[in-house]
Amino acid sequence: MCQICRRDFIRGAAAFGTSGLFASPLMAQTQRGDAGASRLPPRGEFTIANAYVMTMDGGLGDIANASVHVRNGEIAAVGKDVGGGGEKIDGAGMIVMPGLVETHWHMWNTIFRSFAGDKPEEGYFPTVARFGQQVSPEDVFQSTRLSAAEAINSGMTFVHSWCHNVRSTAHAEADVRALAEAGIRARHSCGWPQGLPDTQSADQAPLENLARDWKSRSNDGLITLGMAWRGQFRAGPIKPEVYQPEFDNARKLGLPITVHVAAAAHRAVGQIELLYKAKLLGKDIQLVHALAASDAELDMIKESGAAVSVSPGSELRIGYGYPQVSEMLAKGIPLGISVDTSALTGSSNMFGVLKLTRDSENAKAESEFKMTARKALELGTIGGARSMGIDNKVGSLTPGKRADLIAISPNALNMAVVSDPAHLVLEATGPENVDTVVVDGRILKRGGKLTALDTSEIIAGARAALAGVRERTKWR
Ligand SMILES: [Zn+2]
Repeated sequence: MCQICRRDFIRGAAAFGTSGLFASPLMAQTQRGDAGASRLPPRGEFTIANAYVMTMDGGLGDIANASVHVRNGEIAAVGKDVGGGGEKIDGAGMIVMPGLVETHWHMWNTIFRSFAGDKPEEGYFPTVARFGQQVSPEDVFQSTRLSAAEAINSGMTFVHSWCHNVRSTAHAEADVRALAEAGIRARHSCGWPQGLPDTQSADQAPLENLARDWKSRSNDGLITLGMAWRGQFRAGPIKPEVYQPEFDNARKLGLPITVHVAAAAHRAVGQIELLYKAKLLGKDIQLVHALAASDAELDMIKESGAAVSVSPGSELRIGYGYPQVSEMLAKGIPLGISVDTSALTGSSNMFGVLKLTRDSENAKAESEFKMTARKALELGTIGGARSMGIDNKVGSLTPGKRADLIAISPNALNMAVVSDPAHLVLEATGPENVDTVVVDGRILKRGGKLTALDTSEIIAGARAALAGVRERTKWR
């Protein structure tokens, strides 16, 4: 888009933000932060019957004409001859599967959706660094709430909010509050402020403040806390006296750590080997991207027990190259798939990202058959859950696990016929096909409509937040 068209478009979109919707009483209530999780529906008892159930549980497999019985937020039973209980929901013609597990997403910058432009000065990093420094806690709330609503709408039941613009404790609190209000299962990884010099350690006060009374912020345990770390390398190397105190503090607090590493441009640096030699890898570490990992470095990741998150949507878009999904799976490295940032990817539909994951593996191998559709869906459910350490709770429709599930209705022009369910779900599902979304037994989408969130209010709030950032950055 040309510079002028871009400006005009953004100005036009921003104008919507000052519409009457923004001034609604509901909006004012949300801004004060007293709406919270109290607007979420109760965890009821219900049975989805007569559905095609893809359990993603190795022992249970797919079950046609089956029921899923949910009680008190838990999967009570799954199978053909389940009597069930509570409200009966007709699942005839529907495909029921676990909700998608997203593993790294800068939800705070979704208000900059599709902002990364076509010239170096409009690229992702300068754009986010410039606008990020003008983001208020309320802007974080609006952006993360927009992301969480999009997540639920498109079938994600878990997200990893990778919050690397924590300018104050209030910024981190706003991110957590938006996740809690949406009712989604999540990890909030508390990071540093955009623009922080690489010579300076990140202020640990926000992380410590959150950790101190985390239970009261966790929305009944639905949200967990982690630390988003800059690592040993950003534009250039970071000194040990800068990065080590950050790492040590997270370990002292017993929090999982996540870090971007080894984008293709840094291939020569050997970042993973540096982390390994400095004893900064372990079961509590998630490495993001790791596209440039050598074979020896993949062995180091495997040996350490660290997990990896890859984001083919943003990695292909920004020119990082192909992710090493098959290579990592062959080593037995826990692997999850992620959205990364809507500033680069636009839509954050995880089904689309999972399809890109399969497609990029097939493209690399020059084979139609390198990765199966079912494997890609596994990465988006039980595999992603394993990589985040939550597979004992979610990721498959297994009795005793928490009830995080979705129902897809193929009764639409882009689906219509059900051939192979795994292929159809991976290749054709869009947000509009996700009929029902359940998180921890709460029905958050039903009949194609969000039950706990007001879409108009969220859109108006996001537009107003962007308009404010534009004003403060004098981008007219
Ligand atoms: Zn990222």
